[in-house]
Amino acid sequence: MIGLSVRARNILDDLIAFPTISSDSNLAMIDYIRALLERAGIASSLIFNEERTKANVFASIGPKDRPGVLLSGHSDVVPVAGQAWTSDPFRVVERHGNLYGRGTADMKGFIACVLAVAEQLAPRTLAKPYQMVFSYDEEVGCIGVRRVIDQLPSLATLPELCIVGEPTMMEPVIAHKGKVAGHIKCTGHSCHSSQALDGLNAIHLANDMITSIRKQQDIILNGAIRDDGFTVPVTTLHIGTIKGGTALNIVPSECNLEFEIRNIPSQNADDLLDVLFDQARQLTERVSERFPGTGVAIEIFNRYPGLATPSDSPALTRVQRLVESNAAGKISFGTEGGLFNEQLGVPVIVCGPGDIAQAHKPDEFVSMAQLDACLVFLERLSSELIAA
Ligand SMILES: [Zn+2]
Repeated sequence: MIGLSVRARNILDDLIAFPTISSDSNLAMIDYIRALLERAGIASSLIFNEERTKANVFASIGPKDRPGVLLSGHSDVVPVAGQAWTSDPFRVVERHGNLYGRGTADMKGFIACVLAVAEQLAPRTLAKPYQMVFSYDEEVGCIGVRRVIDQLPSLATLPELCIVGEPTMMEPVIAHKGKVAGHIKCTGHSCHSSQALDGLNAIHLANDMITSIRKQQDIILNGAIRDDGFTVPVTTLHIGTIKGGTALNIVPSECNLEFEIRNIPSQNADDLLDVLFDQARQLTERVSERFPGTGVAIEIFNRYPGLATPSDSPALTRVQRLVESNAAGKISFGTEGGLFNEQLGVPVIVCGPGDIAQAHKPDEFVSMAQLDACLVFLERLSSELIAA
């Protein structure tokens, strides 16, 4: 175990040194992972993005014709610009049993543990496969993993369990919210503000859309669709940005909003979107007769589903046993787990080292105790896969 612990720590040092911010290529890190696997005798497949500037990697140890366990992590990290770091974010620094660096918790610590155990497992004969997926562009809307999900059925037998190693302090998590992100583009008709009635104010159109969104939130707050397992127990709708107008004496012709919906898994986000699209259509009908080309258009630019693994799922019991915890948490941040479950029907449990409270912040860290807990978990899982 001490040897494994040191090995995971060394791999983590290497992984953190790749500044894989989502806007940049992750290929250097993927090459490193691929070479590491190759040295251990493990074949891997790369699944590139359209521009071939980023890739997901899939690898598997053990039989191809049996369902095993898929360990899933993302290779990208959030930016460090504007954050006050005590030390270089792309070099692991140890202080008081904690390892500091961008991505230590979210989620290269998990990836390092998965790789260290893979090396150890490679020469063994497995009854069920130990599968790994490391994706790109998770932090910008779970983009990369969608390509893996499309190809997984042709690469391997679908797993009986998928573990998404996002930081949960090694407590099993069964649910997270879904998310829809969209633009609302309001087009008005410009004129001098002294003639305001001759124009159509795009900001006023946007205001009608904001009112509609706020009304939906009120309906939800007074309604019955809630899940008290979540810290925020209801679906939320919110406007994040508003841009419109050029000068006070001009009736603005453009106003653009960005909005998001974070839905609890038992609430269908499409029902809420339908109301917004209806409202946009009605507004457009009302104004475009007098001012052709004006109105409101909505464009969804990203969405991923929520995750809701049943609390009586054997997948949960299995992970609870392996990490010696009875927890069945519900988290407020999204993961790739919702997509794995929705697209492939695979049971998903989110469980990984570190605390989400440290993620995305300056001086992000994971404790060495958490990495060791993750290694214990993966070793127990390995024993199951050998013996199965
Ligand atoms: Zn993450």
